[in-house]
Amino acid sequence: MAHIAVVGAGIVGLATAFALRRHGTQVTVLEQGPPGGGQSAGQSRIFRHAHADPRLVEQVVRSRELWREWEDELGVELVARDGAVAIGDGVPAKAKALERFPDAPVRLLEPAELSERMPVLAGYDGPAMLDVRGGAIRTTAAVGALSERLTSSLTTDHVLSVRRRDDGAVEVRTGTGSRVYDHVVLCAGRGTAGLVRAAGLDVPVQLRAHVRLGFEVADPRGPLPTFQDGSGAFGETGVYASPYPDPRCYAVGLSDSTPAHADGGVVDPGAIADLADRTVAYVLRALPGLRPEPVDHVHCWVTRLPWGEDGVGIWSADGVTAVSGHNLFKQAPVLGEALAATAVTGQVPAGWDHAARLGREG
Ligand SMILES: Cc1cc2nc3c(=O)[nH]c(=O)nc-3n(C[C@H](O)[C@H](O)[C@H](O)COP(=O)(O)OP(=O)(O)OC[C@H]3O[C@@H](n4cnc5c(N)ncnc54)[C@H](O)[C@@H]3O)c2cc1C
Repeated sequence: MAHIAVVGAGIVGLATAFALRRHGTQVTVLEQGPPGGGQSAGQSRIFRHAHADPRLVEQVVRSRELWREWEDELGVELVARDGAVAIGDGVPAKAKALERFPDAPVRLLEPAELSERMPVLAGYDGPAMLDVRGGAIRTTAAVGALSERLTSSLTTDHVLSVRRRDDGAVEVRTGTGSRVYDHVVLCAGRGTAGLVRAAGLDVPVQLRAHVRLGFEVADPRGPLPTFQDGSGAFGETGVYASPYPDPRCYAVGLSDSTPAHADGGVVDPGAIADLADRTVAYVLRALPGLRPEPVDHVHCWVTRLPWGEDGVGIWSADGVTAVSGHNLFKQAPVLGEALAATAVTGQVPAGWDHAARLGREG
């Protein structure tokens, strides 16, 4: 039986290992810290269908179906049923583009319904839409349930190097030893580019740093949808927000991030504080239903590919496979399947190879 190593137990590595189990392969997941402690940290993410690249929409539609299957199999709610709301002038075009995807129903919202669904939002009468099957991903539930299923495969160790040997096997050197595998899948988030370079693959990822703040809902009356604001009506043109599983807390972040050096140092540490201040200022203007004192911070790395904010790609050669991209939480189930198929067959499934530039803008 083939033995496959997955490096990284963020949502993508866990999804890959879960899919590999279904292929009947032996799988070992090597993770240096707690599962879900990297870019997958924090209590919620947005599941949305609208993307600039229709090929990515197709994958995300399939991913939504897989999230539902995971819910059945793992016995826990993983995507809340309260929808994803977006506002801004770009909304009608986004809604139109989704018309050809019957499994991704969206509808435009009148101001009264917007205010009913988003009672924490200040008055707004511009374009708004509801992505009916979008919603908040229960990130800690997903990481927890997958980790539990994969307990016997999870190993705490730090991977130093990955090397192809002349006999076709792949050697992995870790903090505590050296082992060979039939195939290695690198899902190490910001660690991927460095590990894969030594195996001869070049992943052109741009590293940036980001902050997202949690705020208390002043008068919690019921579940809130996720929210994206591209309107500029409240002084920012790229804002996203997502409820925690606890309805008293709502997370808000700017789409902006700040550059980092390839070695992981933030270029201007003060810029992170500025992003946090701008987020608080936005909440004061746009979300009067939230108390403006942040109750928590998620600081994290953004690994962005040159072809877009939602760009994603798989690199694979001779027993080593790597994945990179940003905003990967929502498509983790379908991406995990694609990575598992790559490891088992040696072929990247159609559309996922980095050369296809999946998720490209324009
Ligand atoms: C604040 C924020 C908001 C976001 N919003 C959204 C959103 O709304 N929707 C969405 O879909 N996505 C969103 N994203 C992006 C999404 O969270 C990430 O794309 C996704 O979590 C990446 O998962 P991953 O498994 O690839 O990486 P990670 O979660 O970073 O996992 C990589 C793992 O590899 C381990 N590792 C690294 N190097 C080594 C090594 N040498 N040896 C052993 N282990 C190693 C790390 O410890 C880590 O646990 C957001 C991200 C952030 C931070």
